[in-house]
Amino acid sequence: MQYYSLRHQAPAVDFRSATVAGQAPDGGLYFPECIPRFSPDFLRQLKSWPKEDVAFQVMQPYVGPTIPAAELARICAETVDFEFPVVPVTGQLAALELFHGPTLAFKDVGARFMSRCLGYFSRRQARAVTVLVATSGDTGGAVAHGFLGVEGVEVIILYPAGKVSPVQQMQLTALGQNITALEVQGDFDDCQQLVKQAFVDTAVTTHLTLTSANSINVARWLPQQLYYCFASQQWPHAEPPVIAVPSGNFGNLCAGLLAHVSGLPVAHFIAACNANDAVARYLRTGRFVAQPAVATISNAMDVGNPSNFDRMLALFAQNHAAINGVVSGCTVSDAVTSATIRRVYTELGYLLDPHGAVAFQALEDHLKTHPGQRGLFLATAHPVKFQQVVEPLIGRAVPLPESLRELLTQPTHSIPLEPRYEALREYLLAR
Ligand SMILES: *Cc1c(COP(=O)(O)O)cnc(C)c1O
Repeated sequence: MQYYSLRHQAPAVDFRSATVAGQAPDGGLYFPECIPRFSPDFLRQLKSWPKEDVAFQVMQPYVGPTIPAAELARICAETVDFEFPVVPVTGQLAALELFHGPTLAFKDVGARFMSRCLGYFSRRQARAVTVLVATSGDTGGAVAHGFLGVEGVEVIILYPAGKVSPVQQMQLTALGQNITALEVQGDFDDCQQLVKQAFVDTAVTTHLTLTSANSINVARWLPQQLYYCFASQQWPHAEPPVIAVPSGNFGNLCAGLLAHVSGLPVAHFIAACNANDAVARYLRTGRFVAQPAVATISNAMDVGNPSNFDRMLALFAQNHAAINGVVSGCTVSDAVTSATIRRVYTELGYLLDPHGAVAFQALEDHLKTHPGQRGLFLATAHPVKFQQVVEPLIGRAVPLPESLRELLTQPTHSIPLEPRYEALREYLLAR
């Protein structure tokens, strides 16, 4: 499989080069040159397969010869080594819970797969690869956890002091081993700016083999198709589900669309957005206008100009009518999201996080006008990650999951860093 840049100004590359580079040199996203089709046998037997075999079958054509089969099988098994349950909430609608991974949000699958692929590719390298990444919260934890203990890879995470939640901070600073957390006395934009400067500083890039753990990396994007395959395995009805996806940068939804284009039966997709709804507007009007991001209570979806929109267009040959036949958009305000969390908890006994709540509401609205259909919404984060939003709405504490209780007893360590490039440069050159 070759990957081309969606800006068409860079040569096509294989999976290994696309993963190591992250982004194409012309600034475009990498996209597969052809979309593999799931075989009729694969679809017929899907329900009876262990999830690690499903993962291997789906990922193998994308990886091609760049990773030997036995190695890829091991990577796939480690990537999906937790549960992805479908939990009925009403007779018409169920949750696909994607928060049972180590950092309690769905980004674990992409981060685990990418980290293990990079670990494999760096094995033939004479020196360790250094992953340098800025985070506003969730991504850093998933990436750090994904790379924890991976040989030949050092991870340096920059996070803004005082601007991540207590749970997120623990997930960044309590891991140790090959993970270093730098606490930047600034905001997320400062962190991102510092990282960008390091990547273009030749003194640093000759001293260290730097790589990014960018969210647009194909090795993070492609394995998200697996959620939809696991949903299909557990779906008990003959008619395929409508699937509502809480969306920010649109990696997750685009991966679902990719699985569908490959042949996975899905009745319809809903792009569930908060106030950052440029794509939902595009779906309604045919015009895409990027907007500055606004802060909401589903903050992992606060993206004004989603990068994966280009991939969505590419999947449907830029054809608005074709996209609209498969996906519709829905915008859910913070006020409605809060009311949904409260109502679903008190009336149905199911606790949503703010991101899952946006998708729940979008799906419920759709089913009201399509009464014969049934659907799934993606529950992308554990409600405990958004305690500060959820607890006042339901009037009680959200118990900590076992894994988190353990983490909270670990010692934490971070290195304070001034928000000046000279400070980061000095730190990196001394490693
Ligand atoms: C990242 C994230 C999203 C948005 O996913 P995209 O692939 O960027 O659309 C939704 N929910 C949670 C909890 C997230 O962390």
